[in-house]
Amino acid sequence: MKPGTIYPSALQQKVLSQETPGGVSVALSIVIPSVIRPSKPFEVRIAVLDDNGYPSLECNSGVEVALPEQAAIHITFRQGIPAVGCLKGIQLSNEGVFRLSASSDRLQAHSNPTLCTSENVPGIYWGDPHVHTILSNCHADKCRSLNFCFTAARHLTALDWVAAADHVSNGRCDFSKWKEQRTVANLYDDPPGFVTLPAYEASLKGGSGGDNNVYMSRFPDMFIDEYEDGTIKTLCSKLAGKLQPDEFFAVPHHTTRTGKHGEISDEIYPGPDAMPVIEIHSKWGTSEYRGNPNPLKKIHDGPSYATNLLDRGMKLGFIAGTDSHATMPSGDGDEPNHIDRLPGLTAVRCNELTRQSVFEAIRHRQCYAASLERIVMHGSIAGHAFGEELQFADLTTPPRIDVLVAAKSDIARIELVRNGKTIRTVTPHSWNTRLTYEDKEDLSKLKIKSHHLNSFIYYYVRVTCESGAQAWSSPVWIHD
Ligand SMILES: [Zn+2]
Ligand SMILES: [Zn+2]
Repeated sequence: MKPGTIYPSALQQKVLSQETPGGVSVALSIVIPSVIRPSKPFEVRIAVLDDNGYPSLECNSGVEVALPEQAAIHITFRQGIPAVGCLKGIQLSNEGVFRLSASSDRLQAHSNPTLCTSENVPGIYWGDPHVHTILSNCHADKCRSLNFCFTAARHLTALDWVAAADHVSNGRCDFSKWKEQRTVANLYDDPPGFVTLPAYEASLKGGSGGDNNVYMSRFPDMFIDEYEDGTIKTLCSKLAGKLQPDEFFAVPHHTTRTGKHGEISDEIYPGPDAMPVIEIHSKWGTSEYRGNPNPLKKIHDGPSYATNLLDRGMKLGFIAGTDSHATMPSGDGDEPNHIDRLPGLTAVRCNELTRQSVFEAIRHRQCYAASLERIVMHGSIAGHAFGEELQFADLTTPPRIDVLVAAKSDIARIELVRNGKTIRTVTPHSWNTRLTYEDKEDLSKLKIKSHHLNSFIYYYVRVTCESGAQAWSSPVWIHD
């Protein structure tokens, strides 16, 4: 395939420019896939952005992309048209971890890193599972249309998949809005180029599960809302009347929010199949552990952090999203003032990009969470991929942690967390590194006894970049 330039269609450009008439160019965005194969073509996605992250309409120049051992390639933008485009048919021949760099007359940027490998490893597909549109009837002055949500996710922020998770509770949805949400999401689902994941936000009261999103492999005829007197468990059991048990799951988010907290008692816990992951970060803040550096503004007093739930034996992988109320998938946007932390995004590991494969990857915790940057985390603990579990009886040697980490900016810290406590920290101060470590502690003394997972320990890896970007691998559990 020869390299070529592709721009969004006239209609897609109109959707972007009508809903976000971007101003002066202040930043350059260059996005590449996180996993590529030697000598196989891939796409380089370029955008010139204004100070809210919207595509500039003022750009009237070219952008040059430097490639290893090849001539640079160019894309040009014209004033009055959103500065968004794609270079197709690009290839790298050598294996390794690479970043590309882009420059225009005034701006420079690195791409996210890519792992170029011929090994049989799954792809990493990035998405934002939590975007609100005008259908949410929440901050309607800021929110934009479903058309904008899907067009921006695909063409502006260059995501592989997105979920418009609009509110239904408090009378915010009815059958007519649901039909619109279903129809437009299905219209924009276009594998293997781009996937829309069926979703909606089902709020519950504090103590009943708090704010949850429901993700589905297909849309049912109507949503289930349990806001007034249900719990996360009754929500899931009623969904099981509409869909098969393997066709939906619920995900609690900003679990440390005052009032709407996600303390989940044993009585209302719907189990690991119906609740396989937790949204650990969004623009509201991080709910990883008490004392984390990016907390929500008003924090619930009780044990509602992700680590509190993990410590009770709940098998929860990690995802992150924006919870954007400016309909800005994985980007900055002109959000309402209280939603001002770094944008979250979710990496899923699977072999192909389809609605079913994205859904199944999250359902099986083959996913990880990140903020701001598409951080590559590729590794295992005790020979098991992140998100998996094994038994102590299967452990013949001390658990070995081996993870390759690469980011757009320099990595300040990689931390290995065991049972909620950091047990190993490395400070590479480079953008591409590897952590290996053997945990020789007497694990029998560290086992947590639980109602849900016998006696167990868990590990995960937290990455923090100098830009403030973070990533959290899903845990690996070892249990009796
Ligand atoms: Zn809202
Ligand atoms: Zn939300």
